[in-house]
Amino acid sequence: MDLRVGVFLDRDGTINQEVGYMSNPEAIELIPGAARAIRLINCLGLRAVVVSNQSGVARGYFPLSMVEEANRRLELLLAQKGAHLDGIYYCPHRPEDSCPCRKPEPGLLKRAAAELGIDLRSSYMVGDRAEDIETIHRVGGKGILVLTGYGKQQNDWLGNPPDFVARDLLEAVYWISLQEGAKRRQEMAISKELLDILACPKCKGDIVLTEKGDGLICKACKLIYPIKDDIPVMLIEEALPYEEKKD
Ligand SMILES: [Zn+2]
Ligand SMILES: [Zn+2]
Repeated sequence: MDLRVGVFLDRDGTINQEVGYMSNPEAIELIPGAARAIRLINCLGLRAVVVSNQSGVARGYFPLSMVEEANRRLELLLAQKGAHLDGIYYCPHRPEDSCPCRKPEPGLLKRAAAELGIDLRSSYMVGDRAEDIETIHRVGGKGILVLTGYGKQQNDWLGNPPDFVARDLLEAVYWISLQEGAKRRQEMAISKELLDILACPKCKGDIVLTEKGDGLICKACKLIYPIKDDIPVMLIEEALPYEEKKD
């Protein structure tokens, strides 16, 4: 079996809004652009896998069933927007339990790799904590910090700075698409499906192809995202100003 590239995703603060210890699965709310980001992972043929620390279980704050319920709710919200997760793994233990699965231990990544056929060294992890970056670095992959959730408060890298810092999950996955793009020209070629998935990383609004087909325009933000070597570069820093033609 050909091993696949995995995109490991932290859950709270990365895909859904951080609410401290989750007490009500019904209250789960997606971070803007998160479903689009996961659709793009799906479209690129990468594995989307949630890896989450849920020590609230061992601490007695909530039962295991609530973690499961929250996961099902998350899958439902994503499915409504056409996105799916290939796996959800979580650690219910406390730090003092010294288990092999609590991030930054890479136990859950290794389990997912064995069960889903993933090559960890060519994989990515996206999360809002330094632990997320360390977890993927321990198995040789690349780590992307998002500034949602606790992301803005992370400043002690303990020797593990992130490979990229993204405003949110959508921008993180756009960065991944550029790393993977050259290997996946077919999936990244502009198609109706891809245009439907891509959104402006700034406002999360729709984009349209330029007349020449050399860029994607967000009219609301007045920005053009260039298409280089057939690959859309959906990063705000790379965008050019767009001026509407007057005639
Ligand atoms: Zn554990
Ligand atoms: Zn925009």
